Amino acid sequence: MPRPSKYVSRSELGWPVCQASYADPRSGLVIHYDGSDQGLAGKSHSACLTYWRNTRAFHMGPSRGWTCIGYSFMSCAHGYVMEGRGLYKTQAAQPGGNTTHYSVTLATGPTDLITPEQINAVRELRQWLTEECGNAGTVLGHRDFVSTSCPGDRAYALVRNGTFEQPPGQTTEVHDMLGLHIGSRGEAVKLLQLRIRRAGFGDALGETGADGVYGPATAEGVRLCRDYVGSRALEGYGDEMTAHAVDQVEAAVTKRTLQKAQISSTALGSNTSPEG
Ligand SMILES: [Zn+2]
Ligand SMILES: [Zn+2]
Repeated sequence: MPRPSKYVSRSELGWPVCQASYADPRSGLVIHYDGSDQGLAGKSHSACLTYWRNTRAFHMGPSRGWTCIGYSFMSCAHGYVMEGRGLYKTQAAQPGGNTTHYSVTLATGPTDLITPEQINAVRELRQWLTEECGNAGTVLGHRDFVSTSCPGDRAYALVRNGTFEQPPGQTTEVHDMLGLHIGSRGEAVKLLQLRIRRAGFGDALGETGADGVYGPATAEGVRLCRDYVGSRALEGYGDEMTAHAVDQVEAAVTKRTLQKAQISSTALGSNTSPEG
């Protein structure tokens, strides 16, 4: 099994051999993020190389003082896997798993896009680690080891639904709404609120309507959408946009649209039949 198809090695980066101690991580791969939005998906790949070099300088500089960049790898928005410590090295990434698991950062922030190319890069990396190094291929998030926001709600939703554990090759789009939760704000929340309205539950949003703030009213709207398409939709079912919740909100919009179409064709039928 060759390296990932778009691989940038340490030697290509001009970095010397990593001096970290030997390890043979067999238990899986851990996903990380940056913590603040970087916007790399909207920039050229050279910005990723700059980001990676800056990350190494920061990790080896006075504030961290590590022997090397902390992570094993980075998977960028353009589908490249970039070497960090690389294979068979102890990391400074996830205390409790630095010798048992490999690490990969997506270099994204909380609302950054996770691109289909990036997902495929993680899948190629995972396949390489399993076939080349006998790694189990279990994909976890940093927060599975310690209390941290890392790797962000969007990436963690993909960890949980098994997206990264699929074989490479097929494209997976990440839905805008995935990973939103009570407390989220912004355009993606507004899009969710507009979908709640289109699904017929705009009243749940209250007077503020589609304001881009995911509070209890939006959560109730999500819960009602899920209930409408047959979910048990108990309390708390609207608090977070899991992959399943995303599917059910979309299904609710579709169901409402079909229902309206039926009503209008029925109405049309009764209006025209006396003359027909
Ligand atoms: Zn992390
Ligand atoms: Zn890139």
